[in-house]
Amino acid sequence: SAFNLETCARPNILALEPYRCARDDYKDDGTNILLDANENAYGPSLSSTTALPPGNQGPSLDLSTLHRYPDPHQEPLKQLLCNLRTTHAHTSKTLTPANLFVGVGSDEAIDALLRCFCVPGRDKILVCPPTYGMYSVSAQVNDVGLVKVPLLPAPQFGIDVPAVTAALSSSSESARIKLVYLCSPGNPTGSLLHKDDVRAVLEHPTWNGVVVVDEAYIDFSPSPGASLAEWACEWPNLVVMQTLSKAFGLAGIRLGAAFASPAVARLLNSLKAPYNISSLTAGVAEHALSGEAGGGGLARMRESRAKLIAQRERLVREMPRIAGVGRLRGGEDSNFLLYEMLDAEGKPDNVTALAVYEKLAETKGVVVRFRGKEHGCLGCLRITVGTKDEVTRFLASLERTLAEVR
Ligand code: PMP
Repeated sequence: SAFNLETCARPNILALEPYRCARDDYKDDGTNILLDANENAYGPSLSSTTALPPGNQGPSLDLSTLHRYPDPHQEPLKQLLCNLRTTHAHTSKTLTPANLFVGVGSDEAIDALLRCFCVPGRDKILVCPPTYGMYSVSAQVNDVGLVKVPLLPAPQFGIDVPAVTAALSSSSESARIKLVYLCSPGNPTGSLLHKDDVRAVLEHPTWNGVVVVDEAYIDFSPSPGASLAEWACEWPNLVVMQTLSKAFGLAGIRLGAAFASPAVARLLNSLKAPYNISSLTAGVAEHALSGEAGGGGLARMRESRAKLIAQRERLVREMPRIAGVGRLRGGEDSNFLLYEMLDAEGKPDNVTALAVYEKLAETKGVVVRFRGKEHGCLGCLRITVGTKDEVTRFLASLERTLAEVR
């Protein structure tokens, strides 16, 4: 590829002198009196200084040090994230904490990448609709333009490689497009992208930019070794984003990660707020990412993932039995499914889909997402896989609602 970090990243970011604090030089190891950071020496305003996980099992969280600023680097947490993604299936190299940026959800990584690479008012990102909405929202916030190259039609929803390649080769656009955001498995498509297609974009011979693969839903894919995180050891122009919000069930703590080359990770870390990850978030995340030996949450993640996949398979079996439900439009690699609603003639129908969406919420108390305004998703609802009881209630409510809107 033609990637060159020195000419691709924003000059002001490359020249940035990152924020430093005294604790970069003198550690909080119990031997020093810390009078450097204007913290409250008498400790947190809390009546209890331990928080126990539900059921009082496993390690408790220590709240007694919450008067201190958190670790700006989060190396132990980053090591656990590396361990999770190290398979050596794609490379003999090993991911290390130097490959990581951790943020307030992957939403922070989406934004940090824009601030790192795109000059406001000048540069652009390329997105492939239908896709996750925050790429374009974050681009607008940063005054960065959008180039849209739609995915191939349903049900594959693959990358249109010739069209993406053409956009990245265009004499007027190529130098302005700094980032390509790919979502795999896609939201709202639910489909894993083909590795060869991602590689084709990474290998573009003349384009000087970064390919961002958003793997928020990767753990729900049945394909073994689906994650491209380890490719960050090989490709200097690849960033792979992940999150604890989905398979790990920790959307509330806000923890996202971006795997990148050490050079790109260093640049992303240089521009973040120094204490972006709270001590509470880091403590809970480390607990969740630890194995059974440490009383950790990895086994719990695998259990809940298996249950969600069973309910996803049940939806795939039972949805076609409901009159008015058309085809499954996307893939089965996520914890949601995209279905189209049909009109009386059996054609995809946005009016029906919108009516079903509203009636489900207003008369049945079941909230799904209407996606029918997005490219290639006419008449589509996106349904998150719930618990067994929730799926039972959803199926019954959908059947009744479809009968009512007719
Ligand atoms: N990427 C995709 C594709 C998503 O669907 C979402 C959440 N809906 C995110 C990223 C954001 O996740 P986080 O909670 O890590 O910010």
